Amino acid sequence: MTGKQILVVEDERPIREMIVFGLRRAGFEVREAEDCRSARSQLADRRPDLLLVDWMLPDMSGLELTRQLKRDRETRELPVIMLTARADEPDKVAGLEGGADDYVTKPFSPRELVARINALLRRAAPGSVEEQLEYDGLRLDRASHRVMAGERSVVLGPTEYRMLEFFMTHPERVYSREQLLDRVWGGNVYVEQRTIDVHIRRLRKALEEFGYDRLIQTVRGAGYRFSTRLE
Ligand code: CA
Repeated sequence: MTGKQILVVEDERPIREMIVFGLRRAGFEVREAEDCRSARSQLADRRPDLLLVDWMLPDMSGLELTRQLKRDRETRELPVIMLTARADEPDKVAGLEGGADDYVTKPFSPRELVARINALLRRAAPGSVEEQLEYDGLRLDRASHRVMAGERSVVLGPTEYRMLEFFMTHPERVYSREQLLDRVWGGNVYVEQRTIDVHIRRLRKALEEFGYDRLIQTVRGAGYRFSTRLE
């Protein structure tokens, strides 16, 4: 299981299904879009680890979508693999110049695709995955799943740990309960939004004796935010 999430943008359903099937079997979490518009809205909602985009799409070419994403600071670092039926060299060059990190020419085997994806994820990994996250003396170590406040360890349940990890990797941004549900629990789980509040309370309580509970801020009418500084 890789646990990495891939967004597949392909309008031709049989091809998309074949890809999704192959990727899920390889342990990826997969989301699907059939055009650029849907891809953009899914990207705004939740950032995948990699984008697999077909060149020929109904509303805009995959090439143009990639160009746009690579121009935008928010999405610039998202690894992109372009699917193309075009074996011509100039097209491949155009794809790479448009910002795609790699391309796979149709027809391809699921195995080849998985290999390319894994290779790109490995290349993209340094820098994007920080083992240690730290803000103002609160430290989260992803390798050991430990949270430390200075020299003392903070005891957290698994959900509170995941929540804190999410907050620390997405600081200074407000997330609604719905977004937290999606990003911390994963989209397919049925959890009441109130449950979020319960876990937020538990997380704050665990952090309280170290004074870090104030990092988890309530934003009225909007949700929660992780602040990087104790004020
Ligand atoms: Ca297509």
